[in-house]
Amino acid sequence: MSLFTKIINRELPSDIVYEQSDIIVIKDINPQAKTHLLIIPKKEISTINDLEEIDRPLISEMFFVAKKVAKDLNIDEWYKLNFNVWKKWWQEVMHIHLHLLSNI
Ligand code: 5GP
Repeated sequence: MSLFTKIINRELPSDIVYEQSDIIVIKDINPQAKTHLLIIPKKEISTINDLEEIDRPLISEMFFVAKKVAKDLNIDEWYKLNFNVWKKWWQEVMHIHLHLLSNI
């Protein structure tokens, strides 16, 4: 079970910003910007490389959640979104997550 699945299951604490049936948004524990959120599908998928056809709507929905949360937090004028895929270094948690960062 991934760290994020434990967070989703409330087995580990986190600061939850938004949640819907298939996605959760939490604050990053080690923020790299004034606002640093993680948009996480509840389905445990290791990396973008592991996506399957069936995941297409879920990945799309992650961007719509990003848009909604950025608007709700009033940071939609400037933010960036990124997925890290580099098993040896960049990706620390093997459960896909979309970083949302803003310095507004
Ligand atoms: P990655 O490098 O895998 O793309 O990013 C993983 C992110 O998860 C990092 O920005 C890291 O700070 C964050 N992170 C790691 N462990 C925890 C945790 O237990 N709680 C929260 N909220 N974020 C975490």
